[in-house]
Amino acid sequence: MAEQTTEERGIRIEGLGKRYGRGDTAVDALRQVDMSVAPGEVVGLIGPSGSGKTTLLKCLGAVIEPSAGRMTLGGTVIYDNGWTIRDLRALRRDKIGFVFQAPYLIPFLNVTDNIALLPMLAGQPNREARRRARELLDALDVGHRALAMPSQLSGGEQQRVAIARGLVNRPPVILADEPTAPLDSERALTVIRILNDMARKFETAIIVVTHDEKIIPTFKRIYHIRDGITGEEQGEGRDLR
Ligand code: ADP
Ligand code: MG
Repeated sequence: MAEQTTEERGIRIEGLGKRYGRGDTAVDALRQVDMSVAPGEVVGLIGPSGSGKTTLLKCLGAVIEPSAGRMTLGGTVIYDNGWTIRDLRALRRDKIGFVFQAPYLIPFLNVTDNIALLPMLAGQPNREARRRARELLDALDVGHRALAMPSQLSGGEQQRVAIARGLVNRPPVILADEPTAPLDSERALTVIRILNDMARKFETAIIVVTHDEKIIPTFKRIYHIRDGITGEEQGEGRDLR
């Protein structure tokens, strides 16, 4: 296959719509979503509760099916008024890193293996998968908990482990839904710094849903969403060093 050019990678969303249900009780959660995120870019997505943020991430992550529009991910059109690719599980596994609001760790695997599982499933040798896991745990300041079980961790530690898991496969796209909500200010900024480093180093396109005042000033570009319609604004892009 030919090498993808830089412009083709990243995320592009055009005229995306999502209706839940039908008839009298239908809800148009997304009406007109237009967004693009370049490889290496971290953008913020903000909007009031119920405005469609989670719905948008779920559509982009191929967790739910949109009702209309077009989505391009890492150079591939994945949706054009219908899914254009057959294996959505492979898409989710290989192209997308999720960081959810709740950590959803596997209770019977230790911290390192919770993270190393994904690269192992993707065919990485176990040693390399665990090495990557440890590297991320160290960067997120939870290296000392590498062999603990999830139930032994605090909420903030669990969240940092979940963040490491979202990053470990170095996917071209990372979708983060309120990733810093349970973290104190310093740790929230550490997470944003790591996301920016990832973006730069691996040409990752990253969307961060947030209403965390601690991190909003760090974005160079912000999309806002209201009643399922997006708009774009310039962010402060505060220096993270
Ligand atoms: P946000 O994440 O910005 O708070 P959501 O994407 O969760 O917003 O929700 C957007 C709208 O879609 C809301 O009106 C919500 O009630 C509705 N909604 C979300 N999920 C469902 C669902 N599974 N079925 C029906 N309506 C839903
Ligand atoms: Mg939400």
